[in-house]
Amino acid sequence: MTPITSFVGKTVAVFGLGNSGAATAFALRNGGCEVICFDDDERSVGIASGYGLRTANLRAANWKDFDALVLAPGVPLTHPKPHWTVERAGAAGIPIIGDIELFCIERAKIAPGSPFIAITGTNGKSTTTALIAHILKAAGKDVQMGGNIGEPVLTLEPPAPNRVHVVECSSFQIDLALSLNPSVGIHLNLTPDHLDRHGTMENYAAIKERLVANADTAIIGVDDSWSKAMASRRAASGRSLWRISAEGPVDNGVFAGITANDGALDVRLVRVENAMPRVVANLAGIGSLRGLHNAQNAAAAIAASSALGIAEEVIAAALKTYPGLPHRMEEVGRRGRVVFINDSKATNADSTEKALTSFRDIFWILGGKPKEGGIESLRRYFPNIAKAYLIGAATDEFAATLDGAVTFERSGTLDKAVAAAARDAAAHQGPGDVCVLLSPACASYDQFRNFEERGDAFRKAVNALS
Ligand code: ADP
Repeated sequence: MTPITSFVGKTVAVFGLGNSGAATAFALRNGGCEVICFDDDERSVGIASGYGLRTANLRAANWKDFDALVLAPGVPLTHPKPHWTVERAGAAGIPIIGDIELFCIERAKIAPGSPFIAITGTNGKSTTTALIAHILKAAGKDVQMGGNIGEPVLTLEPPAPNRVHVVECSSFQIDLALSLNPSVGIHLNLTPDHLDRHGTMENYAAIKERLVANADTAIIGVDDSWSKAMASRRAASGRSLWRISAEGPVDNGVFAGITANDGALDVRLVRVENAMPRVVANLAGIGSLRGLHNAQNAAAAIAASSALGIAEEVIAAALKTYPGLPHRMEEVGRRGRVVFINDSKATNADSTEKALTSFRDIFWILGGKPKEGGIESLRRYFPNIAKAYLIGAATDEFAATLDGAVTFERSGTLDKAVAAAARDAAAHQGPGDVCVLLSPACASYDQFRNFEERGDAFRKAVNALS
């Protein structure tokens, strides 16, 4: 844990008692701060007080007694409207901050300048964070990884000169971290997301940009117009900038050079320094980093670890041993030529698109609770589909889209879909591997608690195949 010692003798209100809220309350208390916790959900308040935290109804509190409000990232700060605690804190004139901000304040106090890599972007944050941590561990570094992935940041060991913190940051967390100043800041990409919480694309982009604007070294993906503009602004500031791209060369940074090789893709990651390009790694054959989206993530990870002085041979070797994250194009089994891929994290068509471009001869399991727009945007990849298996509430809607373009069956449940897809894939004629892919393009809530449970059910069904 990282005890927060900057608030010793002060009183702080903590609202939102999920994982990160509770961890924050303990970190503040262990640092010598008086902490008062609350949540709109009575059960969470009960659990916190059961763990020995001091709780009180903050509606009835005198907010002038507090020095700050620490808000959990899930609680609305600005949109659709500020949470009542935000209004009370505003009226009392106290700062509203989050756990990443507390981490930055503590780092500035106990280990200023210690290596701190912060990662954001609409997609690929977790993969890039885990990949960087993997490379740094392979290089023998003392690595602490967390934030929006795995453990809350204040559960990690405290900052220290020879310890690297690799921290995934969501836009909600950045919004609550005004002094966020990583030594290496990474912004991968930006597409519309969470606009209910940020109001406009402009506001969403401005929040993300803060993470790189205040970094000592900024690593910015330039494959979309919003992020490209961020990189141009950073370049204009004259501060250190690495551009990354999965689409074409960059002048200082890392890009993916892609060539077709016997039907498979060769994805070479090229470092450009002083206008001189050199190949650092090739992703061909690395199952955990399939697809062009992962080329962008790998480019960011190479840039970040190079910025920390890791040798390129060590980086190239570590990429080959990256195990991947569960539920993101995860290979969960193989029966002869049939490979089984769990992409349960793909809860919308944009994410599923990444999987459909990464395989051919796909036996595609999809469906669940549909999202607006459905799978219409995936039509151009339908030629890659050998057959589709529909599950859950989206069945009728998706059947109408597939009708006449892709052979499909209404499987209803995941178990039935896996059995049918495995049988058809095994009987499929043709050269090379075929793939049974769970990439639902839907939320899971109609049949499962969350995407993890859905992915676990897929893995179980695959293991149960005779
Ligand atoms: P995040 O943590 O930002 O949600 P993940 O690394 O967990 O991202 O990946 C989630 C999904 O997003 C993946 O399954 C894939 O479909 C897609 N994805 C991953 N990396 C990228 C990227 N660089 N660009 C676009 N989409 C991506």
